[in-house]
Amino acid sequence: MNRTLCRCHECNSVYAARKPDDGSVQIIGTESGCPCGSESSALSEMTGDSVDELGDRAS
Ligand SMILES: [Zn+2]
Repeated sequence: MNRTLCRCHECNSVYAARKPDDGSVQIIGTESGCPCGSESSALSEMTGDSVDELGDRAS
């Protein structure tokens, strides 16, 4: 099981996540979905490109 980062499309927050072999992403410490109340389907793994995008927004 790999660790990764994921972003919630609803609240735009980024979380440390784990990635089971089934291809889904799950926020570490959370059973399902996002703390904002969104379903896990609102979560997507952050790619290298999206990490760069996040850095641009922060600067
Ligand atoms: Zn959220």
